[in-house]
Amino acid sequence: MLSLSLPEAILAFFAPTLIFVLLLALHIVLPAWRVTGYVRDETSNELLKYRLNGLVVFVIAVLVWWFEIGGIPRDWLFRATFYSIAGSSVLAVVLTAILVSAKQSAEKGTSIWAGRVLNKSYFEHLDFKMYLYIFGGTVLALNALSGAAYHWELYGSNSNIGLFLYAGMWLFFVTDYFCFERVQLYTYDIIHERLGFKLIWGCLTVYPYLYVIPLWGLTHYPAPEFKGSIAILAQGGPLLLFLFGWVLSRGSNLQKYTFKRWPERKFLGVMKPEAIASGDRLILCSGFWGVSRHVNYLGEFLIALAMALVLGHFLSFWIWIYPIFIVGLFVHRQRTDDIFCAEKYGNAWDEYCKRTPYRIIPGIY
Ligand code: NDP
Repeated sequence: MLSLSLPEAILAFFAPTLIFVLLLALHIVLPAWRVTGYVRDETSNELLKYRLNGLVVFVIAVLVWWFEIGGIPRDWLFRATFYSIAGSSVLAVVLTAILVSAKQSAEKGTSIWAGRVLNKSYFEHLDFKMYLYIFGGTVLALNALSGAAYHWELYGSNSNIGLFLYAGMWLFFVTDYFCFERVQLYTYDIIHERLGFKLIWGCLTVYPYLYVIPLWGLTHYPAPEFKGSIAILAQGGPLLLFLFGWVLSRGSNLQKYTFKRWPERKFLGVMKPEAIASGDRLILCSGFWGVSRHVNYLGEFLIALAMALVLGHFLSFWIWIYPIFIVGLFVHRQRTDDIFCAEKYGNAWDEYCKRTPYRIIPGIY
């Protein structure tokens, strides 16, 4: 992956910036769904407005990759990975410097890591935070596909099918994200995270490049030697686990979103919402949100586990990096979110914690 010619290495370094600009242009130029969000502007206190068209931008990017438009081979992004990580990190530093020095903020002081402004939007045409996720998600899927193409180049018909399923899982994951882009407006990052290096580097480098770290090792491994029903189990099992994780994660996020917009409405026409009131704010405590306080994180972990297992090389450390990262991320995030919610909802949150005692895994944690 390091064996690029000098001109290619330079192109690889600047690839994230080029992709950033191209996707940004598509996002701005293409028609979009205009929606009012959930978070309020810090200075005007008005509900923020968004233009959502991530799915269209994403589909175009995948088509460009598939048809090798521009003469870029399908495995090139993957071969460019290390130089691109350097380039995307530099881009993150530059964008952080611009956004952390932005004046519009309710917060005093400046934190380069955590950020200062909650949001940056331009003429109701571009919400910078939402755009960062368009970039991150799109490049993540392209990197997974490109890694699969690289593996195919090496092994052809002897390739590891599990690695293609792994890339397919990421493709599904990102497509699902863009199909439910509006639901994202009601999640932690949009509500609480500020535009600092943590979020910007997270979206420009960690999410698109480091989430697919298993491919750095696994693309060079031959297919695992499973035979007959073991082979079916080794691939079918993770697919079922992935589906179950997706149901937990998508189901809970969608239920919370439905509840926030229409507090009386039954989720999917069957799940009647039950809530604990705190002034005019409501805590959802039924359905997925009655099982544990963040069952969506359990779903996401199962997805990560399925992605590890489907690769087949259970003893390779490469496959475990992402699930281990996810456990650390969510244990920390759930605790932080609990603190935010306890401040926001007061005694009602204590009541919710008594009613739904488990943080993530029902009956265990
Ligand atoms: P949540 O979507 O759970 O958002 C947390 C916020 O939701 C809280 O701050 C609170 O905000 C509101 N909330 C929490 N509990 C309740 C309740 N019972 N009733 C009403 N409102 C509640 O968290 P995330 O944004 O972290 O996760 C969203 C999805 O994204 C998850 O599926 C997660 O797994 C996924 N994700 C994936 C990552 C990855 O790297 N793969 C990284 C991060 C997230 P308020 O009260 O202000 O509405």
